[in-house]
Amino acid sequence: MLKMLTKKDEVNVMSVKVNMAEVLKMRQSQEIDKPYGSSDSKFPLFKTPVNERLLVYIPSLNVIEHEDGTSTNDVLETALHNYKLGKKFGTITCISGIDNDSPIAEILGYKDHTCPACDAVNECWNLVNAKTEAKAKELGVNPENDPEEVLKPFRKKYIQDMVMTRASKYVTFPIVVIPHKGNRLTGESESGMSAYYVTMTEQRYREKVCASLSTLFNNPGHIGGRFMVWDFTYDSNGAQHNARDSAKNAKFNIIIDPAALQAFEPIRAKAEELAKEFTNIKALEVLTALEPVEYSKLNSSVDSVMKETRKILAMVSEGSDIAALPSAPEKILESFSATPLSDGNLGVTEIASADANATAGAHRFD
Ligand SMILES: [Zn+2]
Repeated sequence: MLKMLTKKDEVNVMSVKVNMAEVLKMRQSQEIDKPYGSSDSKFPLFKTPVNERLLVYIPSLNVIEHEDGTSTNDVLETALHNYKLGKKFGTITCISGIDNDSPIAEILGYKDHTCPACDAVNECWNLVNAKTEAKAKELGVNPENDPEEVLKPFRKKYIQDMVMTRASKYVTFPIVVIPHKGNRLTGESESGMSAYYVTMTEQRYREKVCASLSTLFNNPGHIGGRFMVWDFTYDSNGAQHNARDSAKNAKFNIIIDPAALQAFEPIRAKAEELAKEFTNIKALEVLTALEPVEYSKLNSSVDSVMKETRKILAMVSEGSDIAALPSAPEKILESFSATPLSDGNLGVTEIASADANATAGAHRFD
């Protein structure tokens, strides 16, 4: 598509003359963040399988046994902001509420700073409010007195268009995926096991993954050391299955059948061995979205994401008629993205991180 368009030097985009060479230059410099993934192939990130049912073992390397006989599973917690810019999605670390006295906060330059992404969320809300006001004026509706809720669908759309979302808590932990047939091990089960890091929202972890612990007679309160079925199959009503809906429909169940557990027991040691280097510290080192980022870099990432939003906000404060502005300048960029984003996100507004040009299936499992 881009090739075809560059035959001309200038084309009209939304009735604005745009120099295509400049557009190309702008696109090439649009480095925002690395797509979410692992920088080390020895420590891959789990991707949502499409319509598959997996046998999964949760290694116990992060399980801490306490003196009173209880135990906990120490998953890595991170607060991340999701952003979307046209078809580009990604995450930015939230530094709100971090320990300011930590020497690391000093080294990374976080000290005495608020989170730039949290501040950006406020700016996005300002834009939502400005757009709503403009729409109200255009339709002659008083926003304070709108019993028919005429403005509601517009406001909803403006909220969906926010390029930065408030931070969500994510958890990361290792899993081992075991080849299986039905609920049985196969000849390849032991040799074909693979360890991965999984990142998902803390809410999903708590409400979906750990919820199945309630089926246990003695609930240890965590899933460390358990065999589970992670079921991503779903009825697509004849449509093609995809990662997004697979993730949305995922079910997580702890295996409690004694016969199955007895059959799986011999591979436990191998699974633990495979995952033994998948520590929380390693995750910080290899998973791009979890890497510690200096304040200046964080700030410039936020600046890149917020560029268009700020431009529109400035126009509004200068008194431009917002209704006359393109509703989303990102659309200009969007029209040059040939590859639709395939993401595996689960939450309604949660966004998986993937480059617009990434191959289908490059997504974080949320
Ligand atoms: Zn933040």
